This record gives sequence, structure tokens and C-alpha cells, in this order.
Amino acid sequence: MEEEIEKLKKIKAKRVFVQFPEGLKLRIQDISKKLEREGLETVICLEPTFGACDIRDEAKLLGCDAILHIGHESLGIESKLPVVFWEYFIEADPCPILDKELDKLKDFKNIGLITSIQFVKSIPKVKDYLEKKGKKVFVHKALQYPGQVLGCNLEAAKAIEKEVDCFLCISAGEFYADGVVLVTEKPVFNLDLEKKEIYSLEEFRKKAQKIIAWNKAQFKDAKRVGILVSWKKGQVKNPFELKKELEKDGKEVYVLAMDEIAPEKIEGLKLDALISLACPRIGIDDLERYKIPIINWDQN
Ligand code: SF4
Repeated sequence: MEEEIEKLKKIKAKRVFVQFPEGLKLRIQDISKKLEREGLETVICLEPTFGACDIRDEAKLLGCDAILHIGHESLGIESKLPVVFWEYFIEADPCPILDKELDKLKDFKNIGLITSIQFVKSIPKVKDYLEKKGKKVFVHKALQYPGQVLGCNLEAAKAIEKEVDCFLCISAGEFYADGVVLVTEKPVFNLDLEKKEIYSLEEFRKKAQKIIAWNKAQFKDAKRVGILVSWKKGQVKNPFELKKELEKDGKEVYVLAMDEIAPEKIEGLKLDALISLACPRIGIDDLERYKIPIINWDQN
């Protein structure tokens, strides 16, 4: 955190707008107080921040002169205020989990490793461990750190798919492992640092494939379609070409805009299906929350 405080001081920040992922909520008040002790005023953003696609220029309205974006790395998105990114690495020791759970990978010799930015420091530890057990380990650098993926950038997995027998995702929760399942055909395992176990994502693959196929089939017959767009800076896309195409197919189309895409916001509208142009994970991770078929344009 010292490095980020220095960066904020260097740009002469006085009032800092703090954006953070939900997982850090329990720590955010401590972080805020630490910034205040360093002479910085803080405004804590309680709108959910899922990624670096979400840069809140609204902070300027609150008199902030900088943004501290925690848990993410820059996606190069322009903003009205200077943004300091704090990657928030978490030092974890996956070796005790591997000691206990390695048997689950016994059928796989060539293993591709991926992780989120928080756990990139674990990649060399896991690589070393697996190699000592006779495995061949593949790690591809597509973003800032080897093996790192984002929910919307899974290149580190796609690039090595042909070489590996399975993927092992180091994370806390399933979000990143689910992403790999959706873009590759190889088996995916999650080394879950929270649950302290390794488990397969093949059940998720079956379920997701089934729901996605059903949604696509339903979409064909839908008469009234809502195109979902977000005004989050890194998610903005022009919906009007798609609208025209769908209208040519005889559909009645509405462009529906919001900040965070959420099924509750659509309730009350007369629609038969939805198509999302926002975050590529909308309608994938939250498939079951929608009452009408939803298609994610990026996964189409
Ligand atoms: S677009 Fe979605 S997956 Fe990509 S950074 Fe934003 S919230 Fe994460």
C-alpha cells in the first residue's frame, strides 16, 4: 500500500475516490483510515466494482482529484481523473492443498496454470511443486503477469490449450475457472484457496452449455428483444447495428441502458429475450438469475 500512497502523493492528490472489489469490504475502512493518516481525504465507493472496466469519473462531482482502484490492473481506459491501480497481491501457500488434493490430477501429465491478479505470486510455487511431482507445467503470459487472466481476457489459457491435458486455476471462488471452461475444451480444475480443495468444473461446463444452448434456441422465436448496454467506461458498445439486424429479422427491439446490468432492473418490461453487449460474463455467471432467455453477444 505504501507504493500506492506514494503514487497518490506524487500526483498531489488531496481527496481520493476508493473503488474496490466486494471481497475487500471488511478491510476497506482500515484502508480508508490509513489513507487519512497519510493526509488524504477519502470517499469510499459502495457501487460494486468488478473490474478495471469500471472507472468512476463521477468522483469528480464529489470533489475528488484521484481514484484509487483496488484489486485490478489498468486496462488503459481514459478517465477524467488520474487513477492509481493497487493490484492487491495476496500471498498464499497452495502447497498444503496440493499435498492433500494432488491425486485429483493423477490422470494429467501436462498442466496449464492460470490465476487472477491477486494470486500471480502463487504461480511459481505451484509450478515448482507440480514439476517436482513429475508434471509438465505450461504458463503463458498474455497480460501483465504470467498465467494471469481476467473475466474478459482468457488468452493465457487459450494460447496453451493444445499443449495441455488440463488446466489448474489458482483462485478463491469459481469465477476465473468458469471463464476457462467457457473458452476451452480441456478439463478445468480449480485450486480453491478459500475452500482449500481442488475440484473439477465439468459439472459447470455441462450446466452452462445446456443453458446457453436453450437460451439460443429460445432467442430465435423471441418477438420483443431488449439489448442490454452498460455505460461503464470499459463496457460501452454501440447497440444500433445489432438493433437494425434484429429488426430485419422481424423483432421488436429496445436498447436498455444501465450502470450494472442486473435482472431486477428489467422486471416489469414486456420482453421475450435479452441480448447483452456489456461485460462478457453477463448472462454466463448469472444465467440462472434471469427469468427470460439471455444471450451474451461475446459468447455468441
Ligand atoms: S468487462 Fe467484465 S470481466 Fe472484464 S474487467 Fe470488466 S467486469 Fe471484469
